[in-house]
Parts: sequence; structure tokens; C-alpha cells
Amino acid sequence: MEIKYWNKELETAEREKIEAHQLSGLQHLLGKMLDSNAFYKKKLGEAGIKGASEIQKIEDIAHLPFTLKKELVADQAENPLFGTNLTYPLERYVKFHQTSGTTGRPYRCLDTEEDWQWWTRCWSYILTGVGVGPGDRLYFAFSFGPFVGFWGGFEGARAVGAMTIPGGGLGSIPRLQSLMDNEANTLVCTPSYALRLAEEAREAGIDVSKTSITRLVHAGEPGASIPATKKRIEDTWGAKCFDHHGMTEVGAMSFECVLQTGGIHLIEAEYVFEVLDPVTHKPADEGELVVTNLGRIGMPVIRYRTGDRVKLNRERCECGRTFARLQGGMMGRVDDMLIVRGINVFPTAIENIVREFSAVEEFSVEVYRKREMDEMEVKIEVVGAEPAAVASALASEMQKRLAFRPTVTVVPASTLPRFELKSKRFFDKRK
Ligand SMILES: [Zn+2]
Repeated sequence: MEIKYWNKELETAEREKIEAHQLSGLQHLLGKMLDSNAFYKKKLGEAGIKGASEIQKIEDIAHLPFTLKKELVADQAENPLFGTNLTYPLERYVKFHQTSGTTGRPYRCLDTEEDWQWWTRCWSYILTGVGVGPGDRLYFAFSFGPFVGFWGGFEGARAVGAMTIPGGGLGSIPRLQSLMDNEANTLVCTPSYALRLAEEAREAGIDVSKTSITRLVHAGEPGASIPATKKRIEDTWGAKCFDHHGMTEVGAMSFECVLQTGGIHLIEAEYVFEVLDPVTHKPADEGELVVTNLGRIGMPVIRYRTGDRVKLNRERCECGRTFARLQGGMMGRVDDMLIVRGINVFPTAIENIVREFSAVEEFSVEVYRKREMDEMEVKIEVVGAEPAAVASALASEMQKRLAFRPTVTVVPASTLPRFELKSKRFFDKRK
């Protein structure tokens, strides 16, 4: 299989060279922050950082303060419209996006022309990494609204020489029709939406495994790295499915290479990544992903606590890249672990079991207390099999692997919510 690189020299460089590149980027960023970014000037000042030269090696990043989402949101609320994390006068900014606001007030993000080029560059690493180049046609099943989502991917595809087909403002069937009529070979969307499109296609008598799609590029949810979900998508579409992840306030930061080694590469040329123990904040192999973006000078984040739970692998990949990998992709959120009857359960582990049952079309999980006991109910929609048998088999499998038996209830087809962007399938009613 041909392995393409966007920047082979850096992607395959020894660690010292990557760190030297990161260090010069970090010093440049800090210089700008201390010079003209009110938000970071204050934060760095409070942490006793007076000059970029105080950072002499990449580990010195540990002297810099963390950035929390709630600080950015509070700053923006106190300093409307856009807050004080702005390095340049407002007229330099040309792009506006905002977070989906699922966990509170939406956060507005601005980019300068140079910063938007940086987004494009990050996406060039991603798309080249998954094998996209000239001759490919990418269909974007994305709303193109204020959420940054795949806007950057749209630019990146152009930068790597591929053709972009926008699917904003269309329902599922017109999108399917458009991607078939235009013979797109790559579908860009969330993992949940790839499954929903396939479901709607089947109801309309279309077999998506017969379309021209050979590759799917996902983000927005852990799904594409959950083995059973990934397999379901690949089997349904008869195509390879690649994970990547990013955040509005941080950027697009990782991708799965064509060899699909079970991990996603971090774009270390454009960021400094740390994996820290969520309690001690010391470097760890498994813990919370903390990110500093080096190229978004206009509205940067330094040591941003993503809340994502990850496992680091620094071994050189078979693809030749030395960019570290997150083994198993985003394994969930550091704070999303459910404790049910004293047992630690991660939503991604539950999804992995449910998705192994091909007759389960959609599901949702609720944890609640009944007579002082934790209970878990899994609601499922079943297609093409005897519902009671599927429910009983799923309950037994979960009992075997999670060490407690949930109640599995079959609900009528198409009654559970479907998702285009961020899915919500887990509800803890005890909180
Ligand atoms: Zn690789």
C-alpha cells in the first residue's frame, strides 16, 4: 500500500528533531502572547513567566499554566463579544465559528487568515495521512453551519488537490443521491451519521456498499475508534473507515494512517501534546490529553485540558511516522466513567459490546437508582432478527463482560434519537 506524507521530513523525524521544531514554535508563540494577548499575558504573568526564553527545552512546558474551557468561556462572557484571548486587533480576523454549546454557553472562536491557513495545513496532514490526494472526490455530509466541524477539512481537501462536494442543507436521501451521482469515493461525516445514512438508504432500497465510496473520514465522536462500531461502518459501507479528532478551540489534531494500526497519529509538527495523570498532573502513558497549538497565533490555547481520556504510544509506526499515536483513539472523557454497583464502566466499552450485535440498529443507555440500587437500562431498536432473542443475548454478553446484568428493552423502530453531529446515548439520572 502506498504511504503518502504531507511533510515526510517531520512526520518521520527522530524525537529530538520534532522537539526542536516544537520548541522554536512554542517560544515564538509565547513571545507573541506576552507581547499582545491580554488573556495569556495575565495568565503567564500570574505564573511568573516573563519571557519566552524561560522555556529552554520542551519539558519546560510544565512551567506554563493550564487553560480550562470554563476560563475561556468566562473571559468571553466578561469581555463581549470575543473575550481577551486575541493577539491582534479585531480587523485581522476573517473567520468565525462557535462551539455547539452542548455543555453550556457557546464559545466563539475567531481565526486570522494565517490561522485559517494553519487549520488547512493540519487538515492536509490528516487527509494525506488517510490516503487522499488528486483524483479523489470527497463528499461532505455536513451542515456547514457555525460549528467548525468539517469546514477545515473542506479547505484541506482543496489544499491536497482533491475535489470537494458540499452536502450542506440537504436531507439524507438527497445527500446519498448526490454522492452517488457525482461518484464521490470518500465520505466525510460523524460515525453516527455514517450509520444513519446507511439506515435511511436501506429503507429507500439503496445498498450503500454498492456506491462508489471506498473510504470514510470521521470525527466528532469516539465511534470510529471503537472496534465494533468501526467494523459495523466498514462492513455496511464496504469501505475503510478512518478516525481523526479535533476541537473548535484547539484545532484538528490527529489522524489514523492508512495502515490502521489501532491508533491515531498526533500532528506533532503543529502542536505540543502532553498526556497527564488527571489527578497528579504528572506525565503518564494513560490519562488526559493536554494540548498547546503552535500555529493558531491569533486565538491560541496553551496547555488546554481537553478532558479526553487517551493512551500514548511513542513507538515508530509501520507507516514510518514517528508522530506519537493515541492507542484506541479517544477512549472517552476523563469524567464520563460511570460507576454502576461499584463497577467502573466506560460508555465506549458499552458501545463496543452493543455494536457487535448487527441486528441492533440504534441504542441508548440510562443509569438510575431504584430502591437504593444502581440500575442500567439499555434500550435497543432491532431490525431483521427476533427482538426478544437479541435482547436476551445482549444482556448475557454485557453480564459476562461488565460483571452486572442490565435490563435490555426493545423499543419500536425509529423511536430513539438519531444524530448528525454530537450523539448523546448515555444518561446518568443519578446526578
Ligand atoms: Zn502510521
